[in-house]
Amino acid sequence: VAKQDSPMGFFHIDDKAFAAYNRFIAINNLLSQPQKISGLSLHFQPQFNNDGHLFSCEALLRWNDKDMGFISPAEFIPLAEENNAIIEIGQWVIEESCAFIKQLQDKGFSLSVSINVSVKQILMPDFSSGFINTLEKQGIDPSRIVIEITETVLISNIAVVKETMSTLAERGIRFSIDDFGTGYSSLAYLKELPISEIKIDKYFIDDIQCNDESKSYAIVDAIINMSKALGAVCVAEGVESESQFHYLKRHGCSLYQGYYFSKPISMTHFVSFLEKRAQSTVNI
Ligand code: C2E
Ligand code: MG
Ligand code: MG
Ligand code: MG
Repeated sequence: VAKQDSPMGFFHIDDKAFAAYNRFIAINNLLSQPQKISGLSLHFQPQFNNDGHLFSCEALLRWNDKDMGFISPAEFIPLAEENNAIIEIGQWVIEESCAFIKQLQDKGFSLSVSINVSVKQILMPDFSSGFINTLEKQGIDPSRIVIEITETVLISNIAVVKETMSTLAERGIRFSIDDFGTGYSSLAYLKELPISEIKIDKYFIDDIQCNDESKSYAIVDAIINMSKALGAVCVAEGVESESQFHYLKRHGCSLYQGYYFSKPISMTHFVSFLEKRAQSTVNI
């Protein structure tokens, strides 16, 4: 798109808005042919338990395009969901995560890996059979996999979602509700669906430190207690300080993920970290 003065002089596009618009168009163009996308990789963010042991991790997409540079998931995932590119990209994420789990398994590390899966993927009729095939092909133990879904999944076709989740849960795959409390769904699904884990969104965790008046304390406590009562693991995301960690630990949270512990790191970095720590004992 070339920048032109509007012929009638009615409106003015400032340079920043113009650049953002061009970037949006370029990203959309790249996503219209997902098989041609290059520069995708996965990073893994460690999750720690109450003893400070590295317990599991979450796979997070990174896209470093040769022309556009780094494109953040917050920027491209919504667009990829819009134009269905997420189906192909998501399949790549699943295969790449499995390759990582296989590498961990072969080295004797028994971590589980959380994979973000979009509603568009879950609603594909062959999602569960495809997923099981991928695991079998690579020789992956299904109990190493946690699938993270958001509440948007739960306001879509719930019958299809339930069927898919049940099929996968029967194989030993676990499900986690990501960004819990920030979507628009009802709590009814917690009764209906096989959910093993609930992730408290960073939005609530952010207030747990300096702002004693915040209502987030009550919300965080309620989510932790509800998770416990449901027999689900409660994970706090976006933990950035020691005081947040200690508050959450005192109040019965089980797993922690955030910059206080570690940023997402590359596969190679992750494996060498594990090897250095031999059986992954981190004391904090
Ligand atoms: P999410 O699944 O809720 O992932 C957590 C996000 O919070 C990640 O951002 C992570 O890097 C960031 N984060 C973790 N700890 C901290 C912290 O202490 N401070 C701050 N400021 N941020 C923290 P990221 O990697 O940019 O991903 C953003 C979102 O994009 C993810 O949110 C997820 O919804 C989506 N996403 C990422 N990878 C995939 C994928 O493979 N498939 C799908 N469908 N979505 C993905
Ligand atoms: Mg997630
Ligand atoms: Mg999350
Ligand atoms: Mg989040």
